Amino acid sequence: MGVLDLKTTKALQNTASIYERVKSVIPPMEWTAFAEDIDAINQLKQQKNAIILAHNYQTPEIFHGVADIQGDSLALAREAVNAKADVILMAGVHFMAETAKLLNPKAKVIIPDTKAGCSLAESITADDVKLLRKTYPGVPIVTYVNTSAAVKAESDICCTSGNAKKVVESLGVPEVIMLPDEYLAQNVAKETSVKIIAWKGHCEVHERFTANDIELFRKQNPGVIVLAHPECPPEVVEAADFAGSTAHMIDWVGEHKPKRVVLLTECSMSDNVAASNPATEFVRPCQLCPHMKRITLGNIRHALETMTHEVSIPAEVADRARRAVERMLAVK
Ligand code: SF4
Repeated sequence: MGVLDLKTTKALQNTASIYERVKSVIPPMEWTAFAEDIDAINQLKQQKNAIILAHNYQTPEIFHGVADIQGDSLALAREAVNAKADVILMAGVHFMAETAKLLNPKAKVIIPDTKAGCSLAESITADDVKLLRKTYPGVPIVTYVNTSAAVKAESDICCTSGNAKKVVESLGVPEVIMLPDEYLAQNVAKETSVKIIAWKGHCEVHERFTANDIELFRKQNPGVIVLAHPECPPEVVEAADFAGSTAHMIDWVGEHKPKRVVLLTECSMSDNVAASNPATEFVRPCQLCPHMKRITLGNIRHALETMTHEVSIPAEVADRARRAVERMLAVK
C-alpha cells in the first residue's frame, strides 16, 4: 500500500463531507485520485467568483463534487438567468454553454472543451431552418435547445424534452415544425392534436436503445421498472413504464422509490441518481455520450485557472436566439 503525500491528505480532509454523499458510487481509491482536483476547483471557484453548472450526464465526481447547480437543460437555462457569479463554467456540452451566455450576457461563460458537441446540434444548420421556413410558410418553428445559437436565431421558440408538449400547445396553432430531434417530435406528436413536421436529427446515445433491450431487461431483472428518455425511438418509449426528461426521471425515482429500475439514458445519470437513492437497485446498461465525457475534473481545473475557453456569440445572432429561449422560459 502506498503512502499518501501531504497535499493529497489535506485534500482528502477538505473533501471528506462531499465524499459522504457519493461513497455508494465512488470507491475510496478513486476518490483519493479525485480529491486534489476537487479541492483545488472548489477553491478556484471562490477566488474567481465562479459557479459550475453541471448537466445530469456528468460523472459523479463532477456532479456531486464540484457543481453548484445540477440539472437538465431546462433547469440549467433557468439557473443561468439568475446566476450572480462573474464566471459561469458549463460542465456540459457547447450548446448549453451558449444558452447560458444568451441568458446571462454579462457573465463570462467558459467551457473546458470546445469540442464537447452534440449529434442533435450538428444535425441542422441555420440555412436548413431558413429553407424549412420557405417550404412551410407561416408554420411556427419550435427548436429543441440542443441546437446552436445560429439555429435558435432562425426559430420562433425553443423547447426542452421537459416542456416540449407544453411549448407546442402554447402556440395555439394546428401545425408546427419541430426540430431537430425526429424521435422527440414523434413522441410529442402522440400526446397532442397539433400536427408536427419533424427533422431527421437523432441523439447518438438514445437512438441505440431498442424495444428488444427492454424485453431483455425485464426478463433478466424481474420486477424492474423501465424509465425512458423521449429522445429514444417511439417504440422504446411505448414499451417503457414511464417516459420523461432527465429531471422528470429523477423526480419519478424519488417519489416512487422503486425497488429496481433501469434508466434508458446516458449512463452517468444512474450513478448520480443512485447516490441520492441508496435503497433502489439500478440496472445499468452503459450508453456513454462521448461529448459529455470530454468534460473532466482536469480540464475544469485548467479552465478555471486560465479562464478558457470563453464562449461568445455575435450580437445579431444572440439577440434573436435569446428571444426564442426567453419565449420558451415564459411558457408556464
Ligand atoms: S446525450 Fe445525446 S443529446 Fe445529449 S449531448 Fe450527448 S449526443 Fe447530444
